[in-house]
Amino acid sequence: MSAVATRVSAPAVLMYHSISASPEPDPHRIRVHPDRLDRHLRLLGRLGLRGVSQTELLRAVDRGEAAGLVGLTFDDGYADFLTTAVPVLARHGMTATVYVVAGHMGATNSWDTGPQFPIMTADQVRAVAAAGHEVGSHTTTHARLAGADPAVLAAEVGDSRRLLEDVLQAEVPGFCYPYGAYDAAAADAVRAAGYDNACVTGDYAPGDRHTLPRCYVSPADTRAHVLARLARHAVRIRRPLPAPAGH
Ligand SMILES: [Zn+2]
Repeated sequence: MSAVATRVSAPAVLMYHSISASPEPDPHRIRVHPDRLDRHLRLLGRLGLRGVSQTELLRAVDRGEAAGLVGLTFDDGYADFLTTAVPVLARHGMTATVYVVAGHMGATNSWDTGPQFPIMTADQVRAVAAAGHEVGSHTTTHARLAGADPAVLAAEVGDSRRLLEDVLQAEVPGFCYPYGAYDAAAADAVRAAGYDNACVTGDYAPGDRHTLPRCYVSPADTRAHVLARLARHAVRIRRPLPAPAGH
């Protein structure tokens, strides 16, 4: 198997947050300019790769057909996903998963200190799904789940799924741990709530289907950075993922 074939057959996943041309301060380094996203996606296309939602990626992995696919994910559910990222994705014929903090729809990222940005409303979340993208859960309040007690896990993991399913009138298979903070109890709660898959925020270790690693993309990442992140990530998750029980 060639180096390129090895790379493209592994489920590498990129992690973005806000996509915006705003010059406002970005102390948490979560804002990537849309022109930069456009360059990243053009790079994927040149490499023969297509960005897809996390659940589409995993279904392809299950069928042994994930070669050439890269997961694209956007955390928190900022309104600029719909207004700014979706048009860029459409230009490249790619889809993505946006992980929405379900209890903050129509509000802001008030779990962060510092600048506040709008989170999508329920109507905007529906528009994202109608445009062909996946909507996943990023908990109810952006809670840190590692060490959380069972009642908190139920409210953050289960209630957020029900909230989004009410909005979408469709199943929500994907979950994403805020801050990448998880432990065995959190992962068990995610499985018990019925999610098909879940991802963390690091690419430091091979994960299973409910603790999938991802590559953080920084606001200053060039195409070379993205390429290096993909290569490193892919090498670390070359093992095939176990199929979910009951699917
Ligand atoms: Zn987040």
